[in-house]
Amino acid sequence: MASEYRVGHGFDAHRLVRGRKLILGGIEIRHSKGLLGHSDADVVLHALVNALLGALGAGDIGTHFPDNDPRYKGVSSALFLKDVMQMARKRRFKLINADITIIAQEPKLSPHYGAMKSIIAKHARIAESSINIKAATTEKLGWIGRGEGMAATAVVLLSRK
Ligand code: MG
Repeated sequence: MASEYRVGHGFDAHRLVRGRKLILGGIEIRHSKGLLGHSDADVVLHALVNALLGALGAGDIGTHFPDNDPRYKGVSSALFLKDVMQMARKRRFKLINADITIIAQEPKLSPHYGAMKSIIAKHARIAESSINIKAATTEKLGWIGRGEGMAATAVVLLSRK
């Protein structure tokens, strides 16, 4: 039987503020500021979850995990990833690969790609080799360049037999 393939795209952005931990891809990264949000504001996992929901034709992260729901206050966004992967498995979809881009002026993120991949692979129950993480700056242009926030995009491919 032919496989059905579904592509999904996700985007997310959060404001950077002092006094918050910087959590990206499920790991804590030392930085002078952290991302502000209702959950841990992990833009990487939020973009990934939005991409997965897009591929499933299941709406967006705000619909499934509302940012005014006290259950999600301060939670690890890994919870959202686990939930959405479970939703995918229930619908017999398997994640083939994910390609994630983080857009941030600083800090340098490449030393953390391995740890992020390992966390994502664990929660998504796929091989680390199926996940790609990269980062770009905006050459100091705009709100990202001024260090006011960070963004991330993700593309995923799902298949169903
Ligand atoms: Mg978000």
